[in-house]
Amino acid sequence: MRLIMLGAPGAGKGTQARKIMERYEIPQVSTGDMLREARRNGTEMGKKAAEFMDSGRLVPDEVVVGIVSERLQADDMKKGFILDGFPRTVPQAEALSKFGITIDKVVNLEVDEEELVERLTGRLTCPKCSAMYHKVFSQPKVKWVCDHDGADLIQRDDDTEATVRNRLKVYKEQTFPLVKFYQKEGIVVDVSGTGKNAGGVFDEIQSILDQ
Ligand code: AMP
Ligand code: ZN
Repeated sequence: MRLIMLGAPGAGKGTQARKIMERYEIPQVSTGDMLREARRNGTEMGKKAAEFMDSGRLVPDEVVVGIVSERLQADDMKKGFILDGFPRTVPQAEALSKFGITIDKVVNLEVDEEELVERLTGRLTCPKCSAMYHKVFSQPKVKWVCDHDGADLIQRDDDTEATVRNRLKVYKEQTFPLVKFYQKEGIVVDVSGTGKNAGGVFDEIQSILDQ
């Protein structure tokens, strides 16, 4: 099973990708996580990416395509994968198909814009395992502590209102066209996430994947 999670920032790509990974035992490949790790490690690439990330812009295609192409060659990719946050532009999608990789399904998560802003600006993230929480809607058992590993939760630098608005604009202009791109291949499944909790959305995804 080779999947792409598509959707605006805050639509739940990461959360659903993790659930799919646990249920179907295929690895999740998150370019956002990989870029944040490169930043933490202080690599050249990480430093370059930081400027783009903090202003809510996309990191240049060649950088992201480079890290994904390396990751896709690893052994654990043979049983399938979930791409979370990649591709995000048409050139990235074209690069992916040039690698000769066929995608089985594109899960397109749809959530209303105002709900996206509310979700992102209240979001808490685990720096260790990337689990997501929300200050109001989905609180951890202990305040600011990850349920899974006890790490202190953080608010991502790009989850501020101004950056969030910019990320949504960038999504509409550069990423949304991918819905059409993959519709032409007939592999897009639309899943509504508005007003639903993560479990309800996952039930729907599971029924599609089990067909
Ligand atoms: P995410 O964790 O997926 O929300 O990604 C966080 C940030 O990393 C984005 O706002 C971009 O700046 C950058 N990023 C992640 N994936 C990509 C990608 N496929 N192409 C370009 N930039 C990306
Ligand atoms: Zn954690």
